[in-house]
Amino acid sequence: NNFEQLGLNESLLLAIKDLGFENPSEVQQKAIPLLLENDIDIVALAQTGTGKTAAFGFPIIQKIDANNRGTQALILSPTRELCLQITNEIKNYSKYVKGLNTVAVYGGASIHDQARDVKRGAQIIVATPGRMQDMINRGLVNIENINYCVLDEADEMLNMGFYEDIRSILSHTPENKFTWLFSATMPQEVARIAKDFMKSPTEITV
Ligand code: AMP
Repeated sequence: NNFEQLGLNESLLLAIKDLGFENPSEVQQKAIPLLLENDIDIVALAQTGTGKTAAFGFPIIQKIDANNRGTQALILSPTRELCLQITNEIKNYSKYVKGLNTVAVYGGASIHDQARDVKRGAQIIVATPGRMQDMINRGLVNIENINYCVLDEADEMLNMGFYEDIRSILSHTPENKFTWLFSATMPQEVARIAKDFMKSPTEITV
């Protein structure tokens, strides 16, 4: 029941030590070894404040290739605040991984600045659906080669009316990627996203 046992590499363990995290939370204990050892789709029922950002963030950081500057992971989140919070957490977690860049893409700020940051190389993009769709439409971002797609707070994103944006964004991602859906509740629309876009997902409940 400690971080060393989850299979995390030295750079992540160092960052975890700096952050002062002592023990993995329940969702971290369940998701991290599963995602490190397998390339699978998952549906995780988890509330906010349970440590879910690290539950998907640690495996993404460990699995992507920091020597390849292309975008390899996309994390979709419902609001600008959450988008910035996730970006900040991922940056803290990956501070010892040389060459790894995470960029936040969200509405209400300059699309040109965000496009410039993406162009400089962003292995991980954390985005809100509306702005992400806008960037795709304008050809400012390429998510055709991503390996991992996280739908965070999927119930909130659907409540906010992002179904069509999510659908359209996913249509620009490759068939062979892995999708990790996190949601506090499992209403019909979330189940529909899982059914339509995921391949026999493994379920995690905390
Ligand atoms: P989250 O549910 O991902 O929004 O995380 C909630 C807060 O808990 C964030 O401030 C994290 O930095 C923190 N946190 C995440 N995992 C742990 C852990 N294992 N031990 C202590 N704090 C944590």
